[in-house]
Amino acid sequence: MKYARIDLPGGARWGVVKGEDVLTLKKAPFEGIEYDGGSYPLTGCKLLAPCEPTKIVCVGKNYADHAREMGAEPPGFPVLFIKALNTLNRHEGSVHAPDFVQRLDYEGELAVVIKRRAKNVKAKDFADYVLGYTCLNDVTARDVQQHDGQWTRGKSMDGFCPIGPWVTDEVEPSRLKVETRLNGKAVQRGNTADFITDIPKLVEFITACITLEPGDVIATGTPAGIGPMVPGDTVEVDIEGVGVLVNHVI
Ligand code: MG
Repeated sequence: MKYARIDLPGGARWGVVKGEDVLTLKKAPFEGIEYDGGSYPLTGCKLLAPCEPTKIVCVGKNYADHAREMGAEPPGFPVLFIKALNTLNRHEGSVHAPDFVQRLDYEGELAVVIKRRAKNVKAKDFADYVLGYTCLNDVTARDVQQHDGQWTRGKSMDGFCPIGPWVTDEVEPSRLKVETRLNGKAVQRGNTADFITDIPKLVEFITACITLEPGDVIATGTPAGIGPMVPGDTVEVDIEGVGVLVNHVI
């Protein structure tokens, strides 16, 4: 199934994307699937971030080719950081950086959305805790990240985490093409088969120290090819079998 959150006059609603329509649900999909009879054409829907996380846990340098382009050797363990919740952004949302930012980068990534509370999960059981997968752009003020020596400010500016367009459980995440396009031109081409730490092991590593809640997000890292965006650019994160997340830099 593909789970989406749409903006309706009465507020945000969960729905299931079926063909050209979104069928709305009585409650969040974490609590079971119960339709409420509503149906809205997908093309007319404003899609919101397809989850309401309590935290966004990100993995740095999870592809060897990206680690090397950053001048680092691939790390021997997952390097974690957090994006704050003010970064949440949506499919077709605008991305904007304050004027002092000199280099604003895209980072296309596969994201995992958690289904149920997860603590001390073993890698072999990871799928029991996953609602599905979506696209994420780990927008980064690269000059600020490098200036500060740690990543909070450079990674957590307002709107720096577009997620979407929906969450799907219809893919097997271990071998998916990840492509980022800038103004229609492919700038990153990766495959999740090249993760240094795969998703089952990430879930075990993270939940050994951080309890994940329904709707929490794991951003799995970006492949090589990161680069800058400027106002007027359109950036797309396209993940095989998942969807295409589109955002506009203003
Ligand atoms: Mg990243």
